[in-house]
Amino acid sequence: MSEQLGFCIEQHLCTGCKACQVACKDKNNLELGQLWRKVTESEGGNYTREGNGLKQNVYAYWTSMSCNHCVNPSCVEACPTGAMYKREQDGIVLIDQEKCIGCGVCKQNCPYDAPQLIEEGKMGKCNYCIDLIQQGKEPQCVAACPLRALHSGPIEELKNKYKGTNKTQDFAETSTEPSIVIVPHKNAVR
Ligand code: SF4
Ligand code: SF4
Ligand code: SF4
Repeated sequence: MSEQLGFCIEQHLCTGCKACQVACKDKNNLELGQLWRKVTESEGGNYTREGNGLKQNVYAYWTSMSCNHCVNPSCVEACPTGAMYKREQDGIVLIDQEKCIGCGVCKQNCPYDAPQLIEEGKMGKCNYCIDLIQQGKEPQCVAACPLRALHSGPIEELKNKYKGTNKTQDFAETSTEPSIVIVPHKNAVR
C-alpha cells in the first residue's frame, strides 16, 4: 500500500455543529436514522454553591467519527461473502454492493459501529468520498466543517501535523488500528 488514508478530528476546535454529519447524509442520500458520520457529545462538571454565588466547571466536547478505514479491518475478516474489502492503493475500506447480502456480520465485528443497514439486504458506510478524492477534492464532511476541525489525508501526515494522542475518555484504540488522529479537548484527556 502506498499510503493509508484517514481522518483527524481536533476536538478543541469542534463546536458540535454537525455540519459534517449533515453534509455526509446529504451527499449519500441517507434515510432517517442512517448516519455514516456521527457527531457525539460528551459532557460533565457541575455547579456548586460558594458563598452567595455559584461556581461551575461544566464542559462539553464533541467527537466526529465515521468508519476509520482500519489497517486491520475486522469487518473485512468477518464478511462471509467477501463484499467488504480494503483497497490496496490507499487502504480505504469499501463494500461491494453486488456481493453484500446485508447479514450485518461486519457491523457486529466493527468496534466503532460503522456499517449500517441501508436497505433490505445491503450494508453501507463511509466510502471516504472516493468520487471526490479522485477529482483531487476533499471528502464532503471535511469540506463542510466551518471550524476546519476535521481533516483528511495520509494518516502519517496527519499524525505528524496535528500530534493527536488518541488517548481520550471516549475512544479506545483496538487491534484493528483505526486510521484516525484525535487531538483531544482538555476535558477529554485521559
Ligand atoms: S471502523 Fe469498522 S467498518 Fe470501518 S474499517 Fe474499521 S472495523 Fe471496518
Ligand atoms: S468521507 Fe464522505 S462518506 Fe465518509 S463520512 Fe465524510 S462525507 Fe461521509
Ligand atoms: S462540522 Fe466541524 S465543528 Fe461541526 S461538528 Fe463537524 S467537526 Fe465539529
